[in-house]
Amino acid sequence: MAQTHILGYPRIGARRELKRAQEAYWKGEIDQPALLAAGSQVRSKNWQAQQAAGLAFTTVGDFAWYDQVLNHSLMFGVIPERFEQGAADNRLDQYFRLARGRAPSGEPVAASAMTKWFDTNYHYLVPEFSGDQQFQLNAEWLLAEVKEAQSLGHNVKPVIIGPLTYLWLGRGEGSSLDLLPRLLPCYVELLKQLASAAAQWVQIDEPILGLDLPQVWRDAFAPAYENLAKASGSKLLLATYFSPLRENLELAFALPVDGVHIDAVRAPEEVAPAVAALNKRQVLSVGVINGRNVWRTDLARWQRELSPVAEQLGDRLWLSASCSLLHTPVDLETETALADIRKQKFAYSRQKLDELQTLKHALEPGAKTLSAFSKTESRSEADVREELASTWRAQAYPERAAVQSTRWQLPLLPTTTIGSFPQTDVLREVRRKFRNQEISQQDYDAHLRAEIAEAIRRQEILGLDVLVHGEAERNDMVEYFGEQLDGFVHTGNGWVQSYGSRCVKPPIIAGDISRPHAMTVQWSEYAQSLSKKPVKGMLTGPVTILNWSFPREDIPRALSCLQIAKALRDEVQDLEAVGIGIIQIDEPALREGVPLRESGHKEYFDWAVGCFRYTCSQVRPDTQIHTHMCYSNFNAIMDAIVALDADVITIESARSDLRLLQAFAGDGGGYPNEIGPGIYDIHSPNVPERAELVKRLHQLLKVIPAEKLWVNPDCGLKTRNWAEVGSALLNMVEATRTVRAELV
Ligand code: GLN
Ligand code: ZN
Repeated sequence: MAQTHILGYPRIGARRELKRAQEAYWKGEIDQPALLAAGSQVRSKNWQAQQAAGLAFTTVGDFAWYDQVLNHSLMFGVIPERFEQGAADNRLDQYFRLARGRAPSGEPVAASAMTKWFDTNYHYLVPEFSGDQQFQLNAEWLLAEVKEAQSLGHNVKPVIIGPLTYLWLGRGEGSSLDLLPRLLPCYVELLKQLASAAAQWVQIDEPILGLDLPQVWRDAFAPAYENLAKASGSKLLLATYFSPLRENLELAFALPVDGVHIDAVRAPEEVAPAVAALNKRQVLSVGVINGRNVWRTDLARWQRELSPVAEQLGDRLWLSASCSLLHTPVDLETETALADIRKQKFAYSRQKLDELQTLKHALEPGAKTLSAFSKTESRSEADVREELASTWRAQAYPERAAVQSTRWQLPLLPTTTIGSFPQTDVLREVRRKFRNQEISQQDYDAHLRAEIAEAIRRQEILGLDVLVHGEAERNDMVEYFGEQLDGFVHTGNGWVQSYGSRCVKPPIIAGDISRPHAMTVQWSEYAQSLSKKPVKGMLTGPVTILNWSFPREDIPRALSCLQIAKALRDEVQDLEAVGIGIIQIDEPALREGVPLRESGHKEYFDWAVGCFRYTCSQVRPDTQIHTHMCYSNFNAIMDAIVALDADVITIESARSDLRLLQAFAGDGGGYPNEIGPGIYDIHSPNVPERAELVKRLHQLLKVIPAEKLWVNPDCGLKTRNWAEVGSALLNMVEATRTVRAELV
């Protein structure tokens, strides 16, 4: 009979209890014992849910006070020197200083770097290896959690990140792979300690096996796992996820491990080869429940496909979710915003546990056939790509640039901002009142108009060249459009951890997307009526809306993206029709959808870039299209960015060095159109000084010709206050004037 288990469970709590406790602790509102108690509550509920659902194991070690990768850094003593101070007396505060740069005790320091966990929207803390990094095991926290679960009567399966994935995720001088011989003894010792804590199985995660790995990394697996297997008194389940194993499949199954987990949602085609590669003593764990989405699983399909496997493998077949459930919301039962009829289609983490049990029973001999899912007829991704291939603006950039320059008459180095202005307490309060129906639509709109007028007035005084309306009407750049468009569903409690205590609530794409009415036109039109200077129309791009939502599973993502693009194209045309001639279409999440394997890049970019281009394919040549992106590693996607062919791109760059700009200015072509590298960091409350900004502009002019350079901050200003924004922008405008004067 098949067994069931999961790779991990969300740790935020069904009502984000952990978030509340963390934030209260950081603010000094509760003490450490209270925080510890809140954590222990969340853990025991998570374990209880697994046991109640009848899973064979309870997974332990997936809990973290901030991040699971950081847990491992602490466990192996990967603690940069700047965090040593005050550590002995308060280990948890040291942990928080590593994560956030500050904690209730100890001096503030620069926090660890944070980056995205594979292709998810979860951010982990990057291990920072020193030149002579030594490792030292301290597994006290993990062992305590194992004991805690055992004392509550659970059959515990601890989970740890494998040594190669851990090193791959870190940064240091040289290759972190060189550190493997020093790190391995810690893993050996850790496995010994877990075995003596009576762990029968240990799950060891090596998701990098789903990447295009350099040969030296592939070669390192076998010897490393020989070492671990020899020392381990527990059985080892090697877990992989997010991506097909392909050339690493044989390698994974040939390791001296007692079982392998594969992601059958991302790679259903690998179930058969995995069964074939399995040796007689190994267990195969198939992840068939999607750990990355909220839709119920087509269990009938898996009953059909796995029946022969279940017959062949018996209890060596394990059923699981594709990856840790960290990436899905916690419990549909806490969901109040959705109608029951909708809820029936969804499964949050707790419901996914039940799905596992249902499937397990459905694979027992003589089980009834599960009822089939109704199939949606849909166009294929190839159709979408074909439709997109032929839609683009008629004129090439040089021609467009000529007519745009005649129309707009902008000075050299035009100054602008990225879109949002401070979201003040008053604005938030007004929004809350409107939500709760305490004020009318009319009052709300009047308030938004006042905010817009104020934003325009301030920009006029500051002397910016291209204005924005300030986005006062938006709570969030994706949610706002999701709420206006048909086809989206908004949850009340569909929270997913993004980093630390930060959670996001992605909308769900639940049907065909269309635009019942204009979404931003009235605001942009009003803003433009207040100024003679151009006011940019401001939209979130189709790829970003898609990538920051839970997608449909019954049609290709490309098709939903095209539907969004069509809706946005209509919006762009409507903006143009009321006289908005500069329109920015933000794509900060373009990079997030990039497949982990290089082989998938071309297809993704074909439709993602195609959808962006589609949104502005009908505009007049003298309408200027801007786009904005905010992360710094563009190298891998430079070709795609060029292919967007926006007339102007504004990018984050204040925190990165000139290397980034080299990519944009590079001799090898670089970015052919206009570009506005953010000249100051909006994430910091510090007001940049004029002299500093002048210097920055001089640097930029060395790599970007003056006719192509725009001047703007890094990103939107909604998280800052008006005092900071006013002084910073004033300095930016003044610095630009100084440099302009030198140019003529
Ligand atoms: N226009 C958006 C803003 O200014 C862009 C936000 C973003 O890049 N994430 O807020
Ligand atoms: Zn940005």
